[in-house]
Amino acid sequence: MALFPQTFIDDLKHHADIVVVIQDYVSLKKVGATYKGLCPFHGEKTPSFHVNRDKGFFHCFGCGVGGDVFKFLELHEKVGFQDAVKQLAQRFGLTVPELEQNDEQRASTAEREGLLNVHEAAATWFRAQLASQGGGRVRQQIANRGITAATSTALGLGFAPPARDALKQALLKQGFPQALLLRAGLLVQRDDGGVIDRFRNRLMIPICRDTGSVIAFGGRAVDADQQPKYLNSPETPIYSKGRTLYGLNLSKAAIRQGGMAVLVEGYFDFAQVYQAGFQAVVASCGTALTPAQAQQLRRFTNRVVLSFDPDAAGQGATAKSCEMLVSEGFDVNVAILPKGEDPDTYVRKHGHAGYRERLTTSRPYLEFLLDRAAGGHNLNTDDGRVKFLNEMLPVASRIPDMAVRDRFADRLAHKARITDEVVRTEIRRMATQRQTTVTVRELPNLGRVTKAEKGLIWLLLHEPESALAALETLEEDDFVGLTARSVLDLARKLNQDRGFSPAILLERLSTVDTQLVTAIASEPERHVTDADGCARILRRLRCEREHAALQQEIDRLQELGAADHGERIDALWARKLDLLRQIEELI
Ligand SMILES: [Zn+2]
Repeated sequence: MALFPQTFIDDLKHHADIVVVIQDYVSLKKVGATYKGLCPFHGEKTPSFHVNRDKGFFHCFGCGVGGDVFKFLELHEKVGFQDAVKQLAQRFGLTVPELEQNDEQRASTAEREGLLNVHEAAATWFRAQLASQGGGRVRQQIANRGITAATSTALGLGFAPPARDALKQALLKQGFPQALLLRAGLLVQRDDGGVIDRFRNRLMIPICRDTGSVIAFGGRAVDADQQPKYLNSPETPIYSKGRTLYGLNLSKAAIRQGGMAVLVEGYFDFAQVYQAGFQAVVASCGTALTPAQAQQLRRFTNRVVLSFDPDAAGQGATAKSCEMLVSEGFDVNVAILPKGEDPDTYVRKHGHAGYRERLTTSRPYLEFLLDRAAGGHNLNTDDGRVKFLNEMLPVASRIPDMAVRDRFADRLAHKARITDEVVRTEIRRMATQRQTTVTVRELPNLGRVTKAEKGLIWLLLHEPESALAALETLEEDDFVGLTARSVLDLARKLNQDRGFSPAILLERLSTVDTQLVTAIASEPERHVTDADGCARILRRLRCEREHAALQQEIDRLQELGAADHGERIDALWARKLDLLRQIEELI
């Protein structure tokens, strides 16, 4: 991606007072060293939205959002970083410089443009084939699926004829080079060297960016015995399956307006739901939703309804999507369909009114899970209650919002008829246990960040010198398993490149990490007295982790028979004593 020169960004940040910018949208009151107001990102009656003018960041203690002045505009105006920069520059009368691009970037910009053009041309050609005499059979198939001509046009459906290289010939004639067609995945090179069309004898479904540009195709088999049933474009510089939501180009306005999205699995589910008048729909296209797709959706809403076949519930792609969305902080509802139905078949049978009924009677996913799990166990027996809890606790521990998690814990306790304190403790225990096994922090929340991490992060923003010096004394292994590892790693790296400042740190962090950092930095008081103390705690935690692992190994060997493993056990003991000494010194 092209970048603005850092000097310009720094200059802009210097001019764009975060309090002035946010006051365009939120009325702020000065309270002590910071400014407070009602959060524009969630409904609230008492202000929990803080703005720190000196450090240039905002944070809401209610909903957790936070970041610098660019992030505020990105979230509030639902624009990308570049547009946020342009808006701010305009507001403060700065001239936006030309984007810096190196040769490679210029080449890839040209290539991406070429790929977009060739996809547009291919989509036009496929549509023409569908409209031609040769497309008659496929037009009939589309009609048989209950898709109207208007919907077919809206989706841009087309047809790839059963010829060896008809598309290739057509596009070469239009002047597109063969190398570009191969790169776009529209052609494939065979082992014998021949280059032919990838899509032959298929109903073609264009896949678009949310701006409407065609970036890939899905091709559905026309003949019953044709394999595979669905053939998709490969990943290209303009198309990544895991980052694309099918149909967002058609539905984004309706999603934003209605404040929710219906998520379905397949192209034809999408077509039916869309055609039935529910335009706020997107499709994941068969695979489980990725966090990147969730981010796409979050630009427009954080409420999602999924349609479930009751048999498929709790397993497969849909269930995985639900869990991911919940862990990303979405409100997820499920609309249960009759056994064996999907949105495609259901809407065709029951129409708009029937599907509407399913949507309006949809239930929160967590409640649905709870009832389903409760139904699967005999809660009158201790054994059944334990199994029920074991099934639900992992789900609970992945809920990012503490308030939602606690409410869920209460419901869980009520169902299992145990005290909620037991359930909450158990959930907390599972959350900390995961810290040692999960390397990529999937679901950060403040509760899991150790005091030492919090201390260092607070100091990184308010008194960076001491925090950076302390970080330099730590080793790679000291960070293993830490919730805030990516933040501390980045700070260390920036410092080593002599590029650290609190503002640059905030700029470079991921959205999730930014929220973590602004949450900690917004606290009025430091968490600890000194950075060295924090570093000592982190070193001690590492020793304790190693110590626990050693003890486990010793126990295991002793169980196998101390006589056979005496030497090994002695060596481990020596190491263990050494560690205990180190731990002692670090306390
Ligand atoms: Zn908020």
